[in-house]
Amino acid sequence: MNNTLIIGAGGVGRVVAHKCLMNKEVFGNITLASRTLLRCDIIAQELDNKIETACIDADSVDDLVELIKKVNADIVINVALPYQDLTIMDACIKTKTHYLDTANYEHPDLAKFEYKEQWAKDKAFKDAGIFALLGSGFDPGVTNVFCAYAQKHYFDEIETIDIMDCNAGDHGYAFATNFNPEINLREVSANGRYWENGEWIETKPMEIHFTHDYPEIGEKESYLLYHEEMESLVKHIKGLKRIRFFMTFGKSYLKHMEVLENIGMLGIKEVKHKGQKIVPIEFLKTLLPDPASLGERTKGKTNIGIIATGVKDGKQRSIYIYQISDHEECYKEVNSQAVSYTTGVPAMIGAKLILEGKWLKDGVHNMEEFDPDVFMDELNKQGLPWKVKEIDI
Ligand code: NDP
Repeated sequence: MNNTLIIGAGGVGRVVAHKCLMNKEVFGNITLASRTLLRCDIIAQELDNKIETACIDADSVDDLVELIKKVNADIVINVALPYQDLTIMDACIKTKTHYLDTANYEHPDLAKFEYKEQWAKDKAFKDAGIFALLGSGFDPGVTNVFCAYAQKHYFDEIETIDIMDCNAGDHGYAFATNFNPEINLREVSANGRYWENGEWIETKPMEIHFTHDYPEIGEKESYLLYHEEMESLVKHIKGLKRIRFFMTFGKSYLKHMEVLENIGMLGIKEVKHKGQKIVPIEFLKTLLPDPASLGERTKGKTNIGIIATGVKDGKQRSIYIYQISDHEECYKEVNSQAVSYTTGVPAMIGAKLILEGKWLKDGVHNMEEFDPDVFMDELNKQGLPWKVKEIDI
């Protein structure tokens, strides 16, 4: 029987724990470990204590090695924060254990995310004979698989990709973030960036936007952001000429962001306050609603997908592959809103395919490098059904 170790007991960790238990025949003995044991225990109670829990400081490689050995893990599913990616990968190398995450490494003092440091561990993973699957959430994650699926079934060559991420959920707060506030706000307040004709083009935050009609949701203003899956997709989708990422934001969210930015509350450098050192964005996280608590208040839908344009049999075509989730339905199933659900389910699916040997390759890899069909089948079975629509051009 397999042993599965999940690290991180936030909104996403809760979904991963629920979904792994629903697939217990693959995941076997499941342990949920995080910095705050109580959070793990609350989730375990929801699951009739059918999973084990543990306390872990995932910044310490030694502590991680000890825990991985103790549970004799076959795989580590990292759904803590991006800051912990490298230490957890190092512990996996030392213990020869497969690794999976949903977000690429970020240094706490530098609001910049890229795969460089994780890809640099490719040789160490190969030497240890183990697999690291990077970015197995929704975006990155399912969006990468959608691109690979479009490439395999709909195009001889894809020329452009627009990743379209819409969360039309309403939690009733004037301002809150749907996943870890610190990570979310760092991402959204950074300069935008897209890739065209072999070059990265930088934009000011929210500089480029347009109104897009999301199936089953309607028209929403969508803003260009830099997003990590583009870094690997430009390497792996052959013939690509342009890739962009767009996300929807409401007026209230943008106004709050602007004010927070202007007064320095999004700062990531320490400041002194009454003799104490604080990081403004960390303090802001303390004030904002815990994303895990938004589940029961959030109504509405998410629609995340890709629009790919290119050539098939000498003719231009454009297709839209998308997935729609309903916040209230997700909450009914696993006590979490759709943003955590749409991240946690693909994390479970990626880990399932690894344990079943269907996606398995020594080294450090991204999602679009593997056969998309098995992943797309699992999405339909595990709660994230998707659709494909031909767009007239
Ligand atoms: P949360 O902040 O809700 O949860 C993070 C969890 O990690 C918390 O339980 C936290 O512990 C724990 N943690 C933080 N630091 C440590 C540490 N040093 N040691 C042990 N545990 C630690 O975040 P989410 O659940 O919303 O997000 C989880 C991950 O998913 C993030 O990396 C996020 O970027 C990613 N994500 C990916 C998406 C995708 O589509 N690819 C979309 C959304 C999120 P404590 O409870 O003590 O704070």
